[in-house]
Amino acid sequence: MSSAYIDFHCHLDLYPDFAAAILEAERAGVYTLAVTTTPKAWARNYELTRRTKSVRAALGLHPQLVHERADEIALWDELLPQTRYVGEVGIDSGPRYYRSVELQKQVFEHILQACNRAGAKILTVHSVRSAKLVLDLIEANLPRDRGRVVMHWFTGSKSEARRAVELGCYFSVNSQMLLGDRGRDLLVTLPKERILTETDGPFTKIGNRPASPVDVRNTVESIAALRGMSNQQAALQIRQNLKSLLGSDE
Ligand code: MN
Repeated sequence: MSSAYIDFHCHLDLYPDFAAAILEAERAGVYTLAVTTTPKAWARNYELTRRTKSVRAALGLHPQLVHERADEIALWDELLPQTRYVGEVGIDSGPRYYRSVELQKQVFEHILQACNRAGAKILTVHSVRSAKLVLDLIEANLPRDRGRVVMHWFTGSKSEARRAVELGCYFSVNSQMLLGDRGRDLLVTLPKERILTETDGPFTKIGNRPASPVDVRNTVESIAALRGMSNQQAALQIRQNLKSLLGSDE
């Protein structure tokens, strides 16, 4: 793994020019996980990333879409053997989506069980206002020797973060999380071996423009400052974390 920086959660297919967004990440050598929100988006993501060096695609069914797309789980099942990476998946019980939480729970449980059966999958997981439920479901359905979970944009409590660590989870951290005291306080409590970076672009912004994978460099620098490390040490640590997450194969 030679990439200098890592964006472990980015919606490249939601940028105005998807192919150009992939090319930019590829040229900059940023290891980028292109997440998808519906399995219908998989085919094109797969096509555009099957030969890239540092961009990988993940098969998702976004919790915010579950209320209208839960039946796409059949397509998700069919496509799972094509990839090692799964996401964006999880639960959102924020005000706009709490009404579908029961359905989201069924879909996420199904996804975790399918990953358990398949083995060796890596998941990027959304847990807005649902950290406890998400961790309960992971604990019950995906033992740590059957798959790896990266908590994306984690906003749970410190004790929930500790529980996630005990379950073997990693955390992908973005620049927006580190703007407030809560996110900064959380970051300093995470084991340094479990930290990755993400942009969640285009949903985070740098000034007025959507963040893109090359912008994770700023996040690495913020992490370094908050953890009292040099930028180089932080970047190296995060690369090592990706390596241990992925194991021997990419
Ligand atoms: Mn996302």
